[in-house]
Amino acid sequence: MNNAHLAEPFKIKMVEPIRMISRERREQALIEAGYNPFSLRSRDVYIDLLTDSGTGAMSHNQWAGLMLGDESYAGSDNFYHLAESVADIFGYRYMIPTHQGRGAEQVLFPQLIKPGQYVLGNMHFDTTKAHIEMPGGRARNFVIDAAYDTTTYHPFKGNFDVEKMERFIDDVGAEAVAFILITVTCNSSGGQPVSIENIKAVHACAKKHGIRLFFDSARYAENAYFIQQREEGYSDKSVREIVREMYSYGDGSTVSAKKDPLVNIGGLLIFKDDEELFRACQAMVVPLEGFPTYGGLAGRDMECLARGLQESVDEDYLAYRISQVGYLGNRLRDAGVPIQYPTGGHAVFVDAGKMLPHIPKGQFPAHALANELYIESGVRGVEIGSLLLGRDPETGEQQDSPMELLRLTIPRRVYTMNHMDVVVAALVAIQDRAKEIRGLEFTYEPKILRHFTARLRPIETESAAVAGMM
Ligand SMILES: *Cc1c(COP(=O)(O)O)cnc(C)c1O
Repeated sequence: MNNAHLAEPFKIKMVEPIRMISRERREQALIEAGYNPFSLRSRDVYIDLLTDSGTGAMSHNQWAGLMLGDESYAGSDNFYHLAESVADIFGYRYMIPTHQGRGAEQVLFPQLIKPGQYVLGNMHFDTTKAHIEMPGGRARNFVIDAAYDTTTYHPFKGNFDVEKMERFIDDVGAEAVAFILITVTCNSSGGQPVSIENIKAVHACAKKHGIRLFFDSARYAENAYFIQQREEGYSDKSVREIVREMYSYGDGSTVSAKKDPLVNIGGLLIFKDDEELFRACQAMVVPLEGFPTYGGLAGRDMECLARGLQESVDEDYLAYRISQVGYLGNRLRDAGVPIQYPTGGHAVFVDAGKMLPHIPKGQFPAHALANELYIESGVRGVEIGSLLLGRDPETGEQQDSPMELLRLTIPRRVYTMNHMDVVVAALVAIQDRAKEIRGLEFTYEPKILRHFTARLRPIETESAAVAGMM
């Protein structure tokens, strides 16, 4: 049962060859990249699990739509088609296209946040947190404690601890809260879903205190699919109905279209019925993103997105999608590789802290594992741990991340189950020689967002030097 998986519900009409390179070439490429997979050229990567953002494959229907782009500056047909699709999927009346999710954030957040106010979320995504802080807001997370426990099953590890949030609101006063933001699925806790019951409770709390409620939507369809599979009373509802119900509790949403909506670039700012706020954002989108009927997108991009929104809630597709990610997670777990459990919607998180306990946090065990995985198999994953967390901005001390994770993020409709087997085989091989893997030190450490461009090298120790000679 554990290893059961669904075959792809699509045929392959066009292929993109992948360059197969030798282990020696990969070793060389990694040295050139300063032992940082972010700096690898994609042509040197075999299976790219860096992110699921903008990396999905469009359908033939989307590619056909691309040719119907109406590239008028104002009032393009594709804009109206996109607005219809948004109304159909989310049940929201107002829509502004943006170049991607963070474009929607930069338009909306300054409208809502007064300096010093709090934005309460389950767990804020990193660009979202940055856009909260830019107009002077303060981001606070209220995800349940179970989210931090990688080994114990909980069906909705993206849920809010609503009581804790209530206590916080009572403490600071409702007027100190700019808005509440529900991230679905909760990316930062591992693509973990939020239940309808929890969304309702957050809605009730927001309503009681007169606070606006927004969604941060990148993986709404995956979230709805988990609700259908796991929440009592929802197994007979369609994913479409569940998405509609989820959004009925919110006032609006920022959307990254690069995830579930199956396009390579794009975003949305949508509102249920708040015309005044919509008009205020419409005025701001012009200098920031573009005229309100294109917002940084070409007509053809909007057409692909209008169609992608419809495909995102296709249940055969979602069943296969979630099954593929679950298959990778289950096979790793069966082989004794420690992962965050249960597997989320878009990625498997390997617990590198558990796999490489001999490497201290300050020597970046998950980054070392990412490098080893690349050398072993050409698979590119990404560190989510102390390298990403960085230094304390005040003291300059390296901060210890609570978890050292290697994220294997699965692009949508791009790789087959055979590719997943390659990943499993590589990690199992690495597990057998985990003790030989060395930690890393910087040769170049940028001041901000260091993980993207840092250069590192393996630490030479006596025993490691011997291992390295073998
Ligand atoms: C990706 C993402 C964003 C930002 O969207 P972009 O399209 O990358 O700008 C915001 N929130 C969440 C939860 C995301 O996953």
